[in-house]
Amino acid sequence: MDSQGQKMLETAQSIVRKAAADLNLDTETVKRLVEPEAIHEFNFPVTMDDGSVRMFKGWRIQHNRVLGPYKGGIRFHPDTVREEVQALATLMTIKCAVAGLPYGGGKGGVVVDPKQLSTKELERVSRAYARQIAAIVGPYTDVPAPDVNTNPTIMSWMVDEIIKANQDRLKRLYASSDAAQPPRLNPNYFRATFTGKPVEKGGTLGRTEATGRGGVIILQALLKKLGSNLPNRVRTSSAARSAEHALTVAVQGFGNVGYYFAKIAQSAGFKVVAVSDSKGGIIKNSELADRRDLSALDINLVYQCKKERGSLAGCYCAGGVCDTRGGQIISNAELLELPVDVLVPAALENVINEDNMKKIKAKIIVEMANGPITEEAYDYLTKKGVIIIPDVLANSGGVTVSYLEWYQNIQNVSWTEEKVNKKLEQMMIAAFTKIWQKAARMKQSPGLDLKQAAFVVAVERIVDVVE
Ligand code: NAD
Repeated sequence: MDSQGQKMLETAQSIVRKAAADLNLDTETVKRLVEPEAIHEFNFPVTMDDGSVRMFKGWRIQHNRVLGPYKGGIRFHPDTVREEVQALATLMTIKCAVAGLPYGGGKGGVVVDPKQLSTKELERVSRAYARQIAAIVGPYTDVPAPDVNTNPTIMSWMVDEIIKANQDRLKRLYASSDAAQPPRLNPNYFRATFTGKPVEKGGTLGRTEATGRGGVIILQALLKKLGSNLPNRVRTSSAARSAEHALTVAVQGFGNVGYYFAKIAQSAGFKVVAVSDSKGGIIKNSELADRRDLSALDINLVYQCKKERGSLAGCYCAGGVCDTRGGQIISNAELLELPVDVLVPAALENVINEDNMKKIKAKIIVEMANGPITEEAYDYLTKKGVIIIPDVLANSGGVTVSYLEWYQNIQNVSWTEEKVNKKLEQMMIAAFTKIWQKAARMKQSPGLDLKQAAFVVAVERIVDVVE
């Protein structure tokens, strides 16, 4: 049994159990919240480019459907194991409930390294997996989406297969009856089986930026609530708009989530002073020994530079010129320990842990990656008064806009990006407010535990429907 997958599963289940204990739920209800409703495991053959046939293993785990269709991505990874997929399905149940969506939780995975496949082979693996899940997914049963190493193109291949599988099923039904031709299925309806599709194939505008945008919306909502009770050094959100007093932000990870978080935070008036990718991070004005007076990076220029050079290392952008002079490369470890107001881990899990938790200086941490803070570090920092926006809330902008995509498909409409962003904002603020109020009621001096509050809100939402 894979120990990391097992640990992930134990952690996910233990947080659900903790929330259930806070609510004094009975044993059978706890079981219902912890155990998945269905675990589908498949072994399927795929013909490779050289004509050989290779077997692949995959899962679709349907954790809980109390609030609505199962919802959750499909990951392609060589190290994926059943326990990991199950842990992620459990967390999707919580995330969808936290976000106030009419969805339960699910997750899919295939043991495959896409980097070792040609595009044609990747397409055949994706289509073969879609055929395996065709009978168990659908707009009102289970709605998958992209995750690690899967993308909109893969979703559109999968939609194709679902339409074909359903058309074939109808043909078989009609073949055994005296009726004439089977009706043609409405492809639009089946498109709602997957979210994260290309826009021209029923995807929605605004999805690419949604996770980063949602994180910034929650951060702003938090600052508004904190008002004059801001932790030391952290000033008001209106001050965040004045360049001189702008709140400083460091972002680890410059992929989809980190880049859009940094870009949108910058336009909202935050001073993004450090960003990093897997090869390292960059800051300006680093000659100041204590790094208290870091300058803002220009995120658009940094992005251009990364595109040109392939990594952030060596990018220092000022006044429209990207070059290697000035500024400084810092390590990812140093970035996490910068004296910034807001720290945003947006790359990997467990980066804030027992080894570095005492060196973290930020007063607010926005968990944009999944699980970037270990349980021990979470407890330590929360007790110290650091406010942590938990991943299930902070990065739920992605699944919220997935819901908006599904909704548009079901209604057969397409919204403008502005409308999608507006809806996202309303939904994220509503989700935050509910959790903020719960946390304030549960507050244990001196910490404010938004994670525990989020899990309790989620479990309450599910249990309310069960009862
Ligand atoms: P991505 O692959 O687009 O970007 C990942 C970034 O992390 C890259 O910049 C990469 O260079 C950087 N990185 C990799 N290893 C690193 C290391 N050792 N140190 C520092 N940086 C490193 O991925 P993403 O979609 O931006 O996802 C990031 C995190 O957010 C993941 O935990 C993911 O599960 C989570 N998440 C993503 C979404 C979404 O909509 N994309 C939604 C919810 C949660």
